[in-house]
This record gives sequence, structure tokens and C-alpha cells, in this order.
Amino acid sequence: DVAMYRAKQDGGGRFALYSDGMNEAAREEVELVAALRIALAADALDVHYQPRIDARDGGWAGMEALVRWQHPQRGWIPPARFVPLAERHGLIDALGAFVLRATCRRIAAWRAQGLEPGRVAVNVSSEQLRAGTLVDEIGRVLQETGVGWSDLEIEITESLLIADVDGSARQLQALRERGVSVAIDDFGTGYSALAYLARLPLDTIKIDRAFVIALDEPGTAPVVRSILALASTLGKHVVTEGVETQSQLHVMQGWGCDVFQGYLFHRPMPADDIRDLLVARRAGAAALPSGD
Ligand code: C2E
Ligand code: MG
Ligand code: MG
Ligand code: MG
Repeated sequence: DVAMYRAKQDGGGRFALYSDGMNEAAREEVELVAALRIALAADALDVHYQPRIDARDGGWAGMEALVRWQHPQRGWIPPARFVPLAERHGLIDALGAFVLRATCRRIAAWRAQGLEPGRVAVNVSSEQLRAGTLVDEIGRVLQETGVGWSDLEIEITESLLIADVDGSARQLQALRERGVSVAIDDFGTGYSALAYLARLPLDTIKIDRAFVIALDEPGTAPVVRSILALASTLGKHVVTEGVETQSQLHVMQGWGCDVFQGYLFHRPMPADDIRDLLVARRAGAAALPSGD
């Protein structure tokens, strides 16, 4: 849309150039959406899981479920590409339902093997709060899979401005009353995350990776430390995303963060690899990073 707007502003000879590019992008989008619709109808996506670690003792702090899609011709498409398409083209409810069902089935399978996955977080687009049916949908999947409310966390991803904050808050509160934990994802990068902090019932704030990347830039420390102070005042848990180095870990730990999700500890991985990890941990292996 922005490209089209600019093209129109520029006018004249440059319009054709931009609009050709636009057509190609639009064609690709239509093609990707069609392929995604087919993949969703065939349950032909996958879910990977990324562990969270309590850095104080290397303890297991649950996982995040992350959708994966291998396009038949184009190979792996990153979720940052296709999740927004799903949101724009009416496929996000189907995508969300797929991930939730796959995750709950997986939790049940791990349990059946005597493994304890901890709480598993599923990303929920703010679009999925629009219909007002999320609580019932989650309830159905839990009943079908024998998984409990308190096995789940939902991470609200605010890719679009939340249209009905009060309605969303009511649904989140209903989930919490049943035992689901609620996190706000990518905190500090959205449209109005501070307003949501005041108005949405939240348990956890996930500090966006953008802050971690910028930790050694002069302006970052006061902002991150203020977010942490705010979280502490409001009694919210904090998870820091995207920690890749020991020094990032040490800085954030020094400021009072304990729970981390990042490549320094574990990458997102297929369910079978998680099973191996859970088996190893049950046998007593530690997960503290050994150094850069
Ligand atoms: P997110 O929910 O903030 O998930 C964290 C992203 O950061 C994941 O990217 C993860 O692989 C990546 N990450 C974690 N640790 C590190 C690190 O140390 N370094 C780097 N460079 N990256 C790290 P991924 O899987 O590509 O997902 C991107 C985004 O797509 C997610 O961001 C989320 O907004 C969206 N997404 C993924 N799965 C789903 C889903 O099932 N439903 C919805 N609605 N959105 C999803
Ligand atoms: Mg997330
Ligand atoms: Mg995030
Ligand atoms: Mg993100």
C-alpha cells in the first residue's frame, strides 16, 4: 500500500516502474495465499518449539510454539512473511487453530511418554480476538486432546491495532480465570503497548529482540530498565527474547531478568528434538550455555 501511495505521489514516468513492481508483488501474494490456503486445508504445516530457560539455574521454563511452512516449490517461508498474509486474507483463524491443535496433541504425546514439557506458549494474533470465540475454541481443543488450560500460555501479537480493547480484555481474563497464562509479545515495538499494559489482563511481558540487539547502544539501557521497573511495579513476569550472546545474557541478568528465550540456549526445533532434550533433562543434563 505504501509503495502504491508513493508511486501515485511520484506520478509521471516513474509510475509504470513502481506499478510493475507492485503487480509482481501482488501476484506473488495471491499465489502465496492460495498455496497457504491449500496447505492449511491439508494440515500441511508444521510447528517447532523453542525452549525458555531460567538462567538462574538452567531450569526449564516452558516453550513457545512457532509455526513452520514449507512451500512445495519455494521451500521454507518465514512466518514473518506468511502470518501477516494470513491475517490480511482471512486465514489467521485457521492458522491459529492448526497451531493450537498441533501443540496440544504434542503436549499430550510428550506426557504419554512420561515427559514434562512445561507451559507451552502459542502465538495469538490480535485478529483472532475479533470474533470473540477464542475461549470456546481453545476449550474444544483442550477437551479433544486431554490437555489442561494451565498447560497453555497465549502470546498476544499485536500486528494490527487491537480494535476492541475491552472485548479483548474480557476474553483474556476469561482465559486467565481458567488457568491460561497471558503474555504480550514483542513488548516495546508495537503501536501502543503502554496503553495495553494498563488495559489488558497480562501475566507476562516479552521484551522484544530489537532491544537485545541494541543493548550496547547508548539510548537502550534507560528504556529497557524502565520497562523492567514497570513490569516489576505491576507484578508482571518478564521473558527476554532473542538472546544470542553471553554478554547480552549478563547485561539482562544484571538488570533482574531471569527467563530467556534465544539461540544462546536453544533454537526453535522440531518436536522430536524437543523430546530428546526433555529425555536428556530428565536424566539430569544441564542447559546453561557453556560460553561463546
Ligand atoms: P515471535 O512470536 O516474537 O517469536 C520469536 C521469534 O524470534 C521466532 O521467529 C524465533 O525463531 C526468533 N528467535 C528466537 N530466539 C532468537 C535469537 O536468539 N535470535 C534470532 N535472530 N531470532 C530468535 P519465527 O519463528 O521466525 O517467528 C517470527 C514471528 O512470526 C513470531 O515472532 C510471531 O510473531 C509470528 N509467528 C510465528 N508462529 C506463529 C503462530 O503460530 N501464530 C501467529 N499468529 N504468529 C506466529
Ligand atoms: Mg511469540
Ligand atoms: Mg516476540
Ligand atoms: Mg516477533
